[in-house]
Amino acid sequence: MTGAEPIRSIAIVGGGTAGWSAAALLSRVLGPDCRITLIESSDIPTVGVGEATIPPIFEFLQLAGIDELDFIRHCQATFKLAIEFRDWHHVGHRYWHPFGNLGLTIDQRPFSHFWWARKAAGEHLDMADFCPPIALARDHKFAFPPRDGSYPGGAVGFALHFDAGLVAAYLRRHAEAAGVVRLDRRIRGVDLGREGHIAAVVCEDGERIEADLYLDCSGFRGLLIKEGLGTGFVDWSHWLPCDRAVAVPSAHVPDRTPYTVSRAQEAGWQWRIALQNRVGNGYVYASRFTDDDRAAEVLLRSLDAPALAEPRVLRFTAGHRERTWVGNCVAIGLSGGFLEPLESTSIHLIHTGLNRLLDYWPDRHFAPELAEAYNREVADEYAHIRDFLLLHYYPNARHGEPFWDHMRGLDLPDSLVRKMALFTSAGRIVSRRRELFADISWFFVAAGMGLEPRTFDPLVLKAPADDLAGIMGQVRDVVRAYAAAAPSHDAILARVLDP
Ligand code: FAD
Repeated sequence: MTGAEPIRSIAIVGGGTAGWSAAALLSRVLGPDCRITLIESSDIPTVGVGEATIPPIFEFLQLAGIDELDFIRHCQATFKLAIEFRDWHHVGHRYWHPFGNLGLTIDQRPFSHFWWARKAAGEHLDMADFCPPIALARDHKFAFPPRDGSYPGGAVGFALHFDAGLVAAYLRRHAEAAGVVRLDRRIRGVDLGREGHIAAVVCEDGERIEADLYLDCSGFRGLLIKEGLGTGFVDWSHWLPCDRAVAVPSAHVPDRTPYTVSRAQEAGWQWRIALQNRVGNGYVYASRFTDDDRAAEVLLRSLDAPALAEPRVLRFTAGHRERTWVGNCVAIGLSGGFLEPLESTSIHLIHTGLNRLLDYWPDRHFAPELAEAYNREVADEYAHIRDFLLLHYYPNARHGEPFWDHMRGLDLPDSLVRKMALFTSAGRIVSRRRELFADISWFFVAAGMGLEPRTFDPLVLKAPADDLAGIMGQVRDVVRAYAAAAPSHDAILARVLDP
């Protein structure tokens, strides 16, 4: 045993959502003993389009010591209960992927199996009757979940939509108040030192900035991890061919939707996100199947209020760095990888990357085993999300449309083939607990896309059929009453903004 030599200084390169999230969290967790410097160039814009999140956003805010309501007030945030998928199976078809577990488990068996059991018995069930987030979202309502657990089965999960530019500014204020030093510099590259570790980042004017640990938050460019350390990329564009997005904000419309709308389009899909003061819109598309002008035309034609800016095209490749932790450098955010924002996972990956880094926090010897464990987990997490994204595409029935025919004919990853075999035979996925999208998410998307298992969990038949129908009826009544009593999303926002 030689004792640990703690990290004394960190250089964060980049001031987008990733950089300022890292600065806000680490300054809070590490305290004044570790000097944190964030270097960004005010000449190089951030991506600035990450507007939808998933429920663990609240864990991040809590860990970073941020008051949720203050954050909502300052970032034009709205609530998100679900994603509504339109036209994905075929034009005119809709389904929901809500947050939160369905309000029902009986004898610890998941609701989805009771759903299939009733379906097999010939009953037609409305998903909204059993799922509070859908019931609320459908009527543009919102309610905070009861704190006393009085709701059957509990959870109404929710997340946030927000203005990414305001979020970076908010986190910056928070981090600077905690002692993070910001330098406005354009970085040219890195100097390498012993064992291929970074010895310093070098600015355009030759200034060198040294630290023990470097976080690459420089966006798609990957200034440190890719350009400096030459780390390769695991390219998944053969599975996820969408490689561009065109984005445009449009004017505020009243009756804000407490959910993200995801509408399938001819060569990809389109998002619509209502914020307090405007609506964010974007069309994610595969450039092999359409071009930028056509994509912008499709997007602009679909807006429900005037555009507030010129459409902006962004380019990307689906996949992740072979290693996101190399030596004394960790890539957080877009520098580490990107999967299209279909399930709003990118900002979440920033937060899990930071939490995982804290789990495996190194000292100045940077034991390679820590990086190896970290990199394995990151690769697993990306693959899990990739498979879940593919589940949205391949069961489509949009026959005769080249992009959708291509997605239906994909040679799927083995991991997904295995999961789907399990699902179609017995209605199960059995996610490991730490995986982001649990069985219930797979149920919603698979059922939404028209997949049905051949059978279901036989243990749900333990309850006599009459009891089961009675329990389901009770849940339906409670959910309906709960949704009927809930205020509108606009009304809740007004209350939060003007307490
Ligand atoms: P960036 O925002 O690109 O920031 C990079 C920073 O590095 C900037 O501050 C820049 O100034 C600095 N920099 C770069 N080069 C230099 C240099 N040479 N010198 C100094 N500084 C430099 N995520 C979600 O969770 N939900 C969503 O709904 C969502 N939608 C998205 C839609 C699209 C089309 C895209 C492309 C992404 C989306 N994302 C979404 C992802 C999300 O936007 C990003 O994960 C998030 O913004 C983090 O970006 P970043 O901070 O890594 O990079």
